[in-house]
Amino acid sequence: MNLLYKSTRNSDTRVTASQAILKGLAEDGGLFVPVRIPKLPVTLRELRDMSYQETAYTIMKEFFTDFTEEELKNCIAKAYDSKFDTEEIAPLAKVGHAYFLELYHGATIAFKDMALSILPHLLTTSAKKNDVKNEIVILTATSGDTGKAALAGFADVEGTRIIVFYPKDGVSKVQELQMVTQKGENTSVVAIHGNFDNAQSGVKAMFEDKELEKELADAGYQFSSANSINIGRLVPQVVYYVYAYAKLLQNEEIAEGEEINVVVPTGNFGNILAAYYAKCMGLPIAKLICASNENKVLYDFFQTGTYDKNRVFVLTSSPSMDILISSNLERLIYLIAGEDSEKNAELMKNLKETGAYEISEDMKAKLGDFVGGYATEERVKQEIHDTYTATDYVMDTHTAVAAAVHSDYVKETGDDRKAVIASTASPYKFGRSVLTAIDEEYDKMDEFALIDVLHQISKREIPNAIEEIRNAKILHTTECDINEMKNTVKTILKI
Ligand SMILES: *Cc1c(COP(=O)(O)O)cnc(C)c1O
Repeated sequence: MNLLYKSTRNSDTRVTASQAILKGLAEDGGLFVPVRIPKLPVTLRELRDMSYQETAYTIMKEFFTDFTEEELKNCIAKAYDSKFDTEEIAPLAKVGHAYFLELYHGATIAFKDMALSILPHLLTTSAKKNDVKNEIVILTATSGDTGKAALAGFADVEGTRIIVFYPKDGVSKVQELQMVTQKGENTSVVAIHGNFDNAQSGVKAMFEDKELEKELADAGYQFSSANSINIGRLVPQVVYYVYAYAKLLQNEEIAEGEEINVVVPTGNFGNILAAYYAKCMGLPIAKLICASNENKVLYDFFQTGTYDKNRVFVLTSSPSMDILISSNLERLIYLIAGEDSEKNAELMKNLKETGAYEISEDMKAKLGDFVGGYATEERVKQEIHDTYTATDYVMDTHTAVAAAVHSDYVKETGDDRKAVIASTASPYKFGRSVLTAIDEEYDKMDEFALIDVLHQISKREIPNAIEEIRNAKILHTTECDINEMKNTVKTILKI
């Protein structure tokens, strides 16, 4: 029996997994969710000795039931290969009393690689299964990390093109270099004269442009999105929580069935939602600790039951978490509303119209598995500094938000269950912030000198992703004004 997917805003919709992956978002603007969350198909003991790829297959086959074994194994093999700098794919580092699940060993050294290395393969397989003959054009607006991870994932994947828009002055030097040096015949990168919101609005307008859709179809193209709300990104993220638990078992750090806590530095709520799905599947997780930076909309939500994005947007040292609308939260809201799509749609309407919504006491009562926390910029620096001083372990700013929230949580509650901290970026990606937290003096040095310092003090290899951009050729120089985005896409596609 196929596991079907429905929309969070209309429970009558039913599509297969491959259709949900192709569509990304449901027609009614809702997100696709499985009609039920499957249970772990094997025992924890059986998971213990599985490789990452085997774990991935065990989990994903329960969600993507319309894929054949061969199709799914193929996608997994193409995704989790030597692009990762370790065979473990997502290694677990024991530091002090916590376990850092390092999700940054892929091509672009941030956790987005975990899902974006497999999404292109899931997408092209889905296209074949549904007789889509058009070439798939991925359009993405990025504030930094997603764009590069999507480019790396889609580069030279047959049957796809990818066009990424980024704000010319809105990304870090390393992030810009990572994108404009991207290889691959099917990749295009465009700097827009505007900010991230302009880029995102421009992309959204193109997705909704029926005339453009027709022009594309006539030329043999159709748009798709690599956005984090795609179920093809969410499900691959469930895998590493299961894998981490299995590794703890294998290393005899926990007993079979022992409950652990999971701590996730959160922005769009995709990563932590995947951990929640893992818990729903039967993985022994006690608390899901949702860590925010100073943009603490989610912390306030868990405290009060009111989600309110009407506030000052803060630029922090963990930019990938500088978000005021956490799109994936809608999937949790839908679940705690008792899968009532009307109720959910009403709340989302409030969010759109007023920037806020409030959940009922009933719904609030169902949030007991979650704990919200946040860390200020000062606290993040202190965490990086103190952990390095005590253990020599160097963590990036996003991971530090989670580590800080976790140590404060343990102090406050005394809950000292073993904890897995999702480590979402390599310290090399945010070298300046990391090093100045360790010693202010480093702020005087230039970007590449900092990399060498980081290499000395962390005793970790400089990742390929960084080595590559030192001398790489700039391959993308296209720029455009915000009102020229559509024409730029047409020029790139020659239509
Ligand atoms: C995207 C990102 C996050 C936030 O993850 P969500 O799934 O959006 O909550 C955290 N850290 C890094 C480094 C990221 O790139």
